[in-house]
Amino acid sequence: MELLKERIRKDGIIKEGNVLKVDSFLNHQMDIQFLEEIGKEFKRRFADAEITKILTIEASGIGIACIAARYFNVPVVFAKKNQTKNIAGEVYTAKVESFTHGRTYDIIVSQQFLNKEDKILIIDDFLANGQALIGLSKLVEAAGATLAGAGIVIEKGFQPGGKMIRDMGIRLESLAIIESMDEQTGCTFRQ
Ligand code: 5GP
Repeated sequence: MELLKERIRKDGIIKEGNVLKVDSFLNHQMDIQFLEEIGKEFKRRFADAEITKILTIEASGIGIACIAARYFNVPVVFAKKNQTKNIAGEVYTAKVESFTHGRTYDIIVSQQFLNKEDKILIIDDFLANGQALIGLSKLVEAAGATLAGAGIVIEKGFQPGGKMIRDMGIRLESLAIIESMDEQTGCTFRQ
């Protein structure tokens, strides 16, 4: 998606440790008109797929998933990162090793909101080592639901997640794939 690549070139900040900050339009301040374009693009790429629900993970995935959901006309369910006492009934849970925080946490979703009739599209902001996506796919599997695919805004193609997910046979659509990034020279993208 050319518009996204241009925005990353213009506003993305490369930090040490292979972290790209996109806080001015995606991860902290959110450019809603831009997110509408991202939502439309996900819909265009998954136009042939029957989707009943979008699944994402708190916190950065939620805004993106909500705007995308307007185009799919489906609800959004977000996995919570910690066991909370006020979640009703039984939950599905999976462990995720965080790339940005370097620790492992549980993600949970109430069994009420994922069921075996669901055809799920997972949406997230970044794909790095693939742990968040694998955790979310485990929740889908635990519910007996169908995983229709995963839509990622920014895939860091030099990290192993993308290959791993594609090798698992999961349909993966990344709107921009970064081939390499460097604090001095910026990002190069996969065509
Ligand atoms: P993974 O589980 O694929 O290693 O990492 C995915 C998660 O880590 C995403 O949900 C995202 O929040 C975070 N993440 C990974 N790499 C980056 C990055 O370069 N920049 C930002 N802002 N978040 C990242």
